[in-house]
Amino acid sequence: MFENRKFTGVGLSEGETVAPICLYAPENHLKVRERALVDDSEVDGEMARLEKTVQIAAADLDKWADEVTEKIGKAESGIFLAQKYILLDNTVLTMVRNDIRKRRRNAEAAIDEVYKAYEESFLSMENSYLRERSKDIADIRKRLLDILHDTNDGFKCEGRHQCARGAGKIIVAEELTPQMIAKTDFSTVKGFVSAKGSRTSHAAIIARALGLPAVSAIEGIFDKINCGDIVYVNGTLGTIIINPDKALRLSVSQKHIDSGFCLVPSLTGVETMANASLPEEIDVIKSVCADGIGLFRTEFLFIRAGRALTENEQLDIYSSIVKKMDGKPVTFRLLDVGGDKPLPFMEFRKEDNPYLGFRGARFLLGHKELLVTQIRALARASVFGEVRILIPMVTDLHQWRKLASIAEEEIASVEHVKENVKIGPMFEVPSVCYDAEVILSEADFASIGTNDLIQYLFAVDRNNEHVAADYNPDHPVLWKVLKMLADAGKKSSKKISACGELASIPLLAKRLVEAGITSLSMSPRFIPVIREALSEKK
Ligand code: PEP
Ligand code: MG
Repeated sequence: MFENRKFTGVGLSEGETVAPICLYAPENHLKVRERALVDDSEVDGEMARLEKTVQIAAADLDKWADEVTEKIGKAESGIFLAQKYILLDNTVLTMVRNDIRKRRRNAEAAIDEVYKAYEESFLSMENSYLRERSKDIADIRKRLLDILHDTNDGFKCEGRHQCARGAGKIIVAEELTPQMIAKTDFSTVKGFVSAKGSRTSHAAIIARALGLPAVSAIEGIFDKINCGDIVYVNGTLGTIIINPDKALRLSVSQKHIDSGFCLVPSLTGVETMANASLPEEIDVIKSVCADGIGLFRTEFLFIRAGRALTENEQLDIYSSIVKKMDGKPVTFRLLDVGGDKPLPFMEFRKEDNPYLGFRGARFLLGHKELLVTQIRALARASVFGEVRILIPMVTDLHQWRKLASIAEEEIASVEHVKENVKIGPMFEVPSVCYDAEVILSEADFASIGTNDLIQYLFAVDRNNEHVAADYNPDHPVLWKVLKMLADAGKKSSKKISACGELASIPLLAKRLVEAGITSLSMSPRFIPVIREALSEKK
């Protein structure tokens, strides 16, 4: 084992940690290796592996179909039964069996080639329904290969009884994706290391919210690291050390990492609120005495559930958060999906530019059933405290009015406390900022999403570490827009807050307040730091 190999990347979330790693390998099935079979007994062995694998895959599909029937409904479970039908199709299985026997090669290689050819024949069909079936065939191929490798699309050891699924470990991944968030219980994860991703990616935001040290941009991480390695992560410096020496391991594990705990009380004149994505973050939020929740990203609830939550299920979650916040306001952002956050249970049309595609407010207007259900659940939760409903990615006045009128109609149709429900847009697409004055005269409040505002104002991908130098929260043009928004807020006497990552940078938080934006929302761990910075004498 090599000791003390140091690599430098980009720090996504501050803090130090040291722990064994847990590999999250999204594309195990792509690494199919061909192996020649030397004698008949090896051929028989391979045939037996194939039959056993097909049996396991069929049993899994039955199990998933039962689970989905129970949790969602019979119609939704049909996909698994259709896949089982394709899986057990004797024509294809006979081709795979013949391939193993005649070409005397392993089951993985035979499955990969035969199923890919089968997929392609469906892909070239005129009929769109049949063309779609190629996806089912691809799923079956990947599933068979995953079972043969004893791996899975997810944690590398998933399926084995000793698999920790990240508990007590540092997760190492190509990229920290929303799908991974769905598969992970964060309460015991120690940290993250990834090959790709920047400070404003959603996974980085979650890592910071949970206080998990994280480092990205470690190229070729999978070639540098092996199962069983121990890694030291320094998210402040953006470095990792693979198999650190004993002295470093001991010093980190003994160090007390400060977790906030209400060191600095609320300020007068400036609200310091918390951003959150998961209900388990509420404890940290309360421990730093946040003035409320300025942004709760509800999409992660749906991504994690893997399905659309019913009105009552949402009501349970929202009201428990509102109750826990003891009368402090909670801003719930409506589902903000599309772009880098597809909903795993919905078919998204392939788009060349998903960041400019069917996302945010556009998606909500295209999926009224989701929109209406969510608004009703939020309005009903307002019986327990103040609920602010925030609409993401609004692009102009017309779109704001459409969404606001749907929201008002739904709110009026359920039992709620009038003064406890507020509606406001996010200013994060440049075009809408020019309508800010009129919109604010109609809205109850607004929030500026600086993460996306910078991305769209400067045409610079917030998730791409190679263009990070052009992602500049200090740019004078950005501050012109922020000033314009602050002035619109003042004119209409409506509260306008900033909830992007910018608000957690002490110098910039001060500038926001100076510009007239006196409500800041940030990852809860930054609240004591920002309160300190804002209360310093000039
Ligand atoms: C933003 O864009 O600044 C924001 C707060 O929303 P998100 O980071 O979830 O896109
Ligand atoms: Mg945004």
